[in-house]
Amino acid sequence: MNAQLDYVEIRDLTVEFDGFVAVDSVDLTLLQGRVHFLIGPNGAGKTTLVDAVTGLANASGLVRYGSTDLLGLKPHQVVRAGVGRTFQTATVFEQLTVLQNLDIAGGVHRKARSMMRARRGIPSYVEEALDAVGLVDLRDRPAGVLAHGQKQWLEIGMLLVQDAKVMLLDEPVAGMSAEEREETGELLRRIGTERTIAVIEHDMDFVRTFADVVTVMHAGKVLTEGTVAEIQANQKVQEVYLGR
Ligand code: ADP
Repeated sequence: MNAQLDYVEIRDLTVEFDGFVAVDSVDLTLLQGRVHFLIGPNGAGKTTLVDAVTGLANASGLVRYGSTDLLGLKPHQVVRAGVGRTFQTATVFEQLTVLQNLDIAGGVHRKARSMMRARRGIPSYVEEALDAVGLVDLRDRPAGVLAHGQKQWLEIGMLLVQDAKVMLLDEPVAGMSAEEREETGELLRRIGTERTIAVIEHDMDFVRTFADVVTVMHAGKVLTEGTVAEIQANQKVQEVYLGR
């Protein structure tokens, strides 16, 4: 492992719901600079895995980011540790403008908030996030009027202002047009060079185009991991996933 790169190390991660094992002894390493996709049939345990990493599901095992074991932390503590996520349905403040959503997301997580506010300007990191996710022209529109894809970009922008070094995205391109998917993939590549990004995804065209690494989950376990070409050539994957 290259010591200069950030990574998230998941070892023996297990989540049970009343005796049902939704995530079963999963080992997974998410490395900075690679866009890592999590795929697998419905019910494979992908969302539960992300829930466990982000403090939303009780789990056993180890999830280490830097010197922090994320397991046992509350969701806001996970965010503070530099790990952010998005949900399939974007969680933005619909009545507030795009800019206000970004400002609030940043203010909640940055100690410098009062200082920034005192200057009355829009913090530069908010401007940068706005630009990075391509929402400059919509900055003063209420988030509620944004199209679905634009809300996903806003959510990613909110992670940027929170200074999330690890981003876990749940089906960000679901419901997007081909053009929006392309833009999203390019956005992930751009911001992914300095961050650790894992994406739950069903859209195989998107995965094929933008994945550096793919982990296939099935029935709570990791079935296999590799490049898109390796995954596509894998007989077990074809049986449980592509052949479903
Ligand atoms: P995926 O994201 O791969 O579609 P999930 O992580 O959503 O899969 O679900 C994995 C399994 O865990 C499914 O069988 C699902 O029904 C079950 N599950 C998820 N959340 C809960 C819960 N809160 N209580 C009980 N079972 C759950």
